[in-house]
Amino acid sequence: MKKSHLFTPGPTPIPPEALLAMAQPIDYHRSEDAVALIKDVLDKLKHVFQTENDVLFLTSSGTGAMDGAVSNLLCRDDKVIVIRSGKFGERWAEICEAYGVKVIPIDIRWGDSVAPEVVESTLSTHPDAKAIFATLCETSTGALHDIESIARITQSTPTLLVVDAVSALGADDLQMDNWGVDVVVSCSQKGLMTPPGLAFAVLNERAWKATERSNLPKYYFDFRKAHQRGLEGSVPYTPAVTLLAALQCALNRICEEGIRNTISRHNRMAIATRSAIKAIGLQLFAASPANTLTSIRLPDGLDGKAYVRMMREKHGITYAGGQGKLSGKIVRIAHLGWMNENDVIVAISAFERGLSEIGYDIRLGAGVTAAQEGFKKSME
Ligand code: PMP
Repeated sequence: MKKSHLFTPGPTPIPPEALLAMAQPIDYHRSEDAVALIKDVLDKLKHVFQTENDVLFLTSSGTGAMDGAVSNLLCRDDKVIVIRSGKFGERWAEICEAYGVKVIPIDIRWGDSVAPEVVESTLSTHPDAKAIFATLCETSTGALHDIESIARITQSTPTLLVVDAVSALGADDLQMDNWGVDVVVSCSQKGLMTPPGLAFAVLNERAWKATERSNLPKYYFDFRKAHQRGLEGSVPYTPAVTLLAALQCALNRICEEGIRNTISRHNRMAIATRSAIKAIGLQLFAASPANTLTSIRLPDGLDGKAYVRMMREKHGITYAGGQGKLSGKIVRIAHLGWMNENDVIVAISAFERGLSEIGYDIRLGAGVTAAQEGFKKSME
């Protein structure tokens, strides 16, 4: 009998009460209940974003919030710095270019994270850059970027720091207010344990100031409109009410656990997964791996695409393969959202067994043992 397990860095598994909330009769989005729901969700999101700033939401996937961040903050012909270390850093640059914004790229080898000194020197060469676009966890490689250090650099300059926390929100630490990050964007289908379809953005005071001068075209993703209406528990356009109901349940879980504990749980799962992969005799792809997911470099001759397909078709285990130039070369195992230690054991044991099945010489159980020992150590 096949049983499905989802280990992708979005969408992620959804808690049962959130699934049930979506099965309730649909509500009118301007009802008092819906207003209360929206206000509650936006309030709880502040805890997850670790901010006192207002959170605004959009009905779109995460890319909608990235698009809105560019179109709401900038003007045509503005200059910005973009850290490109994978597919999602590249996306920031593509969006900026689509709006006629001039991009100064910081190109980092895929798998590596940017050195804050490189950001500092690029900024000193381009002090007129209006914003720096960064990614907390570059999901295509599994690398974590040191946003805290980058924020320390941008804070004392007029340049805004805009962070894509689409995959890492709730898994890797991001203290928006404490660190001085100006804008954070994220979405529903990853650490927030909700189906795809909701995106979020948080702007601090100086980012809101920037929206006043922005002259780029915007309509559906007009942040000022979404912000104003959101404060009233309202929205400019019909929102995905069903997803909001699910999100409220998922947020209740995070608020009960407490965001600091949520991040610690992800850290324990990530550490155990990394030690399992090393014990199996494989290498991690990212130099500074995130809590969100673990990317594994596959040995030459091992066809990653065929392996991922086999695991899904034969075992019901869905890992993510490599994207773009990493296609077939890495496997990505997420430990994200509604997951705990036991899920990691399932992910690792299946990973080992699958490798053994395709003829990779492996001591079965080496990874699971390492993961178990990792968990035991984290309890001491
Ligand atoms: N940024 C990052 C870091 C991501 O992981 C993703 C989704 N994998 C996106 C942006 C794009 O989000 P979406 O697919 O929800 O538009």
